[in-house]
Amino acid sequence: MFDKILIANRGEIALRVLRACKEMGIKTVAVHSQIDRDLKHVRLADESVCIGPNPSPKSYLNVPAIIAAMEITDSQAVHPGYGFLAENADFAERVQKSGFTFIGPDPDVIRMMGDKVEAIKAMKKAGVPTVPGSDGPLPEDEEECHKIAKRIGYPIIIKAAAGGGGRGMRVVHTEAALISSIRVTQGEAKAAFGDGTVYMEKFLQNPRHVEVQILSDGQGSAIHLGDRDCSLQRRHQKVLEEAPAPGIPQEVREATYAACVKACIDIKYKGAGTFEFLYEDGRFYFIEMNTRIQVEHPVSEMVTGIDLIKEQIRVCSGLPLSIKQSDVIIRGHSFECRINAEDPKTFMPCPGLVKGFHAPGGLGVRVDSHLYNGYSVPPNYDSMIAKIITYGDTREIALNRMRNALDETIVDGIRTNIPLQQMLVRDEAFRKGGVNIHYLEKKLAE
Ligand code: ADP
Repeated sequence: MFDKILIANRGEIALRVLRACKEMGIKTVAVHSQIDRDLKHVRLADESVCIGPNPSPKSYLNVPAIIAAMEITDSQAVHPGYGFLAENADFAERVQKSGFTFIGPDPDVIRMMGDKVEAIKAMKKAGVPTVPGSDGPLPEDEEECHKIAKRIGYPIIIKAAAGGGGRGMRVVHTEAALISSIRVTQGEAKAAFGDGTVYMEKFLQNPRHVEVQILSDGQGSAIHLGDRDCSLQRRHQKVLEEAPAPGIPQEVREATYAACVKACIDIKYKGAGTFEFLYEDGRFYFIEMNTRIQVEHPVSEMVTGIDLIKEQIRVCSGLPLSIKQSDVIIRGHSFECRINAEDPKTFMPCPGLVKGFHAPGGLGVRVDSHLYNGYSVPPNYDSMIAKIITYGDTREIALNRMRNALDETIVDGIRTNIPLQQMLVRDEAFRKGGVNIHYLEKKLAE
């Protein structure tokens, strides 16, 4: 096992990783930008290193500074959290070449999954169900493109192979709009990701977003930890998540889990990962794999009792998983609300001084947050300031606990999206379960 881990992230996830390390008896190094010197995990870490000024390209994305910090602190491994460098294959490779361990899969696996065309190819091979599509990049020939679109059937969606963060996608409803849409998406993809490769998929009209959590040791063993429903999204950003996804037939989910586990073994996947699917009319369609720990991982931890970060660290140190599939029992229900420093109506970020923070509590309530009284939310980074997570024996109990937890929470001094979350947990359709990915935006439009 590692003796010392450097945490290359900030905010709640840095604190989450620090807590796991402390439980495992691993020393921690926090790296931070100038403005982040008073972050909670920086104060709690064994050592800390300022790696640069506030803009992320100069600090949290500054690879030479992070490698240098590993060298001077004698760290053995780096945990990238999510965002920043978590899915950057070049960074993972630099870490390895410098003689350290990257807590995540091998660089070539990150690279393959970062190319959605390659990822879909690998998944199909493993028997993971995918969206009917072009089976590879779109050809230059316009007639060929028309043929593919006709075979799939309109509406279709053009997607950038290198796309991410909900960017580089365009829905096409008619034949007349096809070629111009392809060209525009190619241009955008080239500009945004440096790679103009695009592919085509059937556009599913009313799917849910359901994802499968896996853990894999890269040595032939992989397990799943069930699924999560993350359909409540705004601009492709998740707002509220739950585990398990409500109302999915057991045999359908079991078949999908089995395919995901097989895919992990096939690609020698190491660490924690997520297979993202669209779910419509009783069927799963793979859209992408995330090769990192995700924001919403706590809901899976709550229903399985398994610490995902600890397992991730274990397998990346070369140890086998501490659990077998038969040890994973999905019990009860869990919700997570992302609390953002933003205006609940306009969604404009609202950084600033937190004069008072009262976290909720009680049975089945977990708060993952770096907030404290007197903390100032900087304007430079993501606006998420806390995750409120609840657990209950049933979906209804967990949801009522969330309603109460949100009502108890006070963040004084800045605006947050708590009013939006309070509205959502009271929403009749959401309480019933199984709303699709358009539900939140439709409701906001009303
Ligand atoms: P990104 O990597 O940018 O997040 P994804 O492939 O995960 O891209 O897709 C993001 C979102 O776009 C999905 O959650 C879904 O809302 C929508 N989307 C993607 N592909 C399709 C599709 N074939 N049909 C309908 N919606 C889609």
